[in-house]
Amino acid sequence: MIVVMETNATQEQIDHMAERVRNLGLKANVIVGTQRTVIAAIGEKREDTKESLASGPGVADVVPIMAPYKMASREVRPEPSQVTVRDFRAGNGVCGVIAGPCSVESEEQLLSTARAVKAAGATALRGGAFKPRTSPYSFQGMKEEGLKLLAAAREETGLAVVTEIMSTDDVDLVAQYTDVLQIGARNMQNYRLLEAVGNVDRPVLLKRGASATMDEFLLAAEYILNEGNENVMLCERGIRTFEQHTRFTLPLATLPYLHRRTHLPVVIDPSHGTGHTYMVPDMAVAAVAAGADGLIVEVHPDPENAMSDGYQSLEFGQFEAMMKKCRAVADALERNIDGCPASETCTS
Ligand code: PEP
Ligand code: MN
Repeated sequence: MIVVMETNATQEQIDHMAERVRNLGLKANVIVGTQRTVIAAIGEKREDTKESLASGPGVADVVPIMAPYKMASREVRPEPSQVTVRDFRAGNGVCGVIAGPCSVESEEQLLSTARAVKAAGATALRGGAFKPRTSPYSFQGMKEEGLKLLAAAREETGLAVVTEIMSTDDVDLVAQYTDVLQIGARNMQNYRLLEAVGNVDRPVLLKRGASATMDEFLLAAEYILNEGNENVMLCERGIRTFEQHTRFTLPLATLPYLHRRTHLPVVIDPSHGTGHTYMVPDMAVAAVAAGADGLIVEVHPDPENAMSDGYQSLEFGQFEAMMKKCRAVADALERNIDGCPASETCTS
């Protein structure tokens, strides 16, 4: 249920109504919009809850939230939200680019990639230190050593760092070194992990499970938001279908759909979404055209010898060329790719 306050409601009235919501045994989330403030009242309602709140001071209306997810829905927060960390921004008309290797492998590999992606216009560096591998015999990541290298790359380049967290046991450790916590596709429905990152003061990049529906995806985000962490980005990374020509099927219709349903920024992963280097730039460009709020792209100095996902990674030159094309499309649509705003001449 949403308690919609009058446009001229006072802070006192807002506080009073939030308190009344809590006294009814509901959670009160106060959302300050540009037009008006609303209070999302979340929890089990009694029969007379609506009437009892509607008569309160400064209340314009009390309306039910139709979507099963509440805090993630556009009904509660009509304006698009933006996630900001260091120079990285995603959402509300800005497309932020996250790029880097699938796995952190060495200092040289990570630092050279960080420098190259920054020069081409990325504002965040990705790199897995804890890797969720299909086989237990595959490289599992450098763990804390990898986190240290990410922190060193951030120190040198100023790029925001994005890395995956796989277990509730690692929350404090990973949060110590990183700017954005990535929840991988395999953990999208690990509800205790979602709650744990919901209690950390770091933005979260939540990847869609390979067989998750949109409602399941948004309800997973709701777990994080419900714990009080408002900085959630959704990431479409492709789903499992009968198709064999790609590793996963990357549905770009996710963008207009989610933009209608949620205020949260939507990031597209054309690397995992296709599984083939040659497809990545075209799908990145298409994602920008379809309104992506962010891209996450795997880039490696020597993809052929990468310890994971080399077959879908771009070399530095390929990434730079991809960024040029993305920028041309963004310019044509008057959208902004961060790192190289449309109005400025970019050197790369
Ligand atoms: C990754 O980003 O390297 C990764 C493992 O992604 P996903 O969880 O989407 O498979
Ligand atoms: Mn990968």
